[in-house]
Amino acid sequence: MSAAVEGCLFCGIVAGDVPGDIVHSTERTVAFRDVNAQAPTHVLVVPKDHYATAAELAAGDPAASAELVTTAHAVATAEGYDSYRLVLNTGADAGQTVFHTHLHLLAGRSMSWPPG
Ligand code: AMP
Ligand code: ZN
Repeated sequence: MSAAVEGCLFCGIVAGDVPGDIVHSTERTVAFRDVNAQAPTHVLVVPKDHYATAAELAAGDPAASAELVTTAHAVATAEGYDSYRLVLNTGADAGQTVFHTHLHLLAGRSMSWPPG
């Protein structure tokens, strides 16, 4: 269990203190639309508890870590997609800007590899 962190944007969305376009929630996760969508469906799935990175979440709460993926799959399915990309940016050099871990679900367009 990891307590909410004051000033954390995604703790704020989980708590309802910051507006978020929430599309799904489960016991341990909340899924909401990214404000700067990079695909027709671009949803962020976060653990309700605060963990800075995916590795910290996996070590601290493996069930929540798994639930990020099952929640993303449920959202993709609900939006009509069986093909999608999941991204976990970890560290500033990898593009992480919010240090409350979040799984990006991207779907609805074809995607190239490698990512930029
Ligand atoms: P990352 O760069 O992997 O840390 O991803 C952070 C994501 O959070 C970016 O894709 C932003 O567009 C998104 N974002 C920032 N502020 C908000 C917000 N208030 N609600 C929803 N998504 C946000
Ligand atoms: Zn947080």
